[in-house]
Amino acid sequence: MSYEAVVFDNDGVLVEITDWDVLRGAARDTFASFDVDPSDEDLATVLSSVTVDGLEAMCARHGLDPEAFWHERDTNYTTVQQREVVEGRKPMYDDASVVRDLDVPLGIVSSNQHATIERILDHYDLREHFVTYYGRQPTVEDVRRKKPHPHFVERALEDVGTTNALYVGDSETDVEAAHAAGVDSVFLRREHRADYSLSVEPTYEFETLDPLVDLV
Ligand SMILES: [Mg+2]
Repeated sequence: MSYEAVVFDNDGVLVEITDWDVLRGAARDTFASFDVDPSDEDLATVLSSVTVDGLEAMCARHGLDPEAFWHERDTNYTTVQQREVVEGRKPMYDDASVVRDLDVPLGIVSSNQHATIERILDHYDLREHFVTYYGRQPTVEDVRRKKPHPHFVERALEDVGTTNALYVGDSETDVEAAHAAGVDSVFLRREHRADYSLSVEPTYEFETLDPLVDLV
């Protein structure tokens, strides 16, 4: 199979995932700015794998406006993650340099904040290698549209100009979003995914990004 475009997930694929303690701190700071002392369940609800239902239920428990709370949460996440990037604690993977060698249109679809993705691309001087990139805006609507929803993958495919494309990710939601958008998937099983079990079947499973050069 020879693909005409590749779209990448960001975290755990191109750059290392963010330290959980850093994200937990940003989530705690969000609650603090609304004068809420969160339970463990409250924190878990907004830490990762966030759903609109979960967010709205948590906000209802505490009399918070979901839109305002979420904007603050995502702004805090962007601030701390931009600092992690700039201070060297969220490095690019060595094999992510493959994006400089792939001679087809490339894109990024991340469930991280768009502003976080922009800082990453600028910091690692990668912007010119991608014809398109999407993160989330800090809105409840974009929580609804994040992967496994195919919304942003479909937009990226329009931008790269072909559906003869591969989507590369390190989560089940990446494989699901790719298939929902009608394209083949690569599940990237890096070290942090050694024990991760998938309930969906990716088109390919690789341990590094190196095999991509033979697929385009
Ligand atoms: Mg990821």
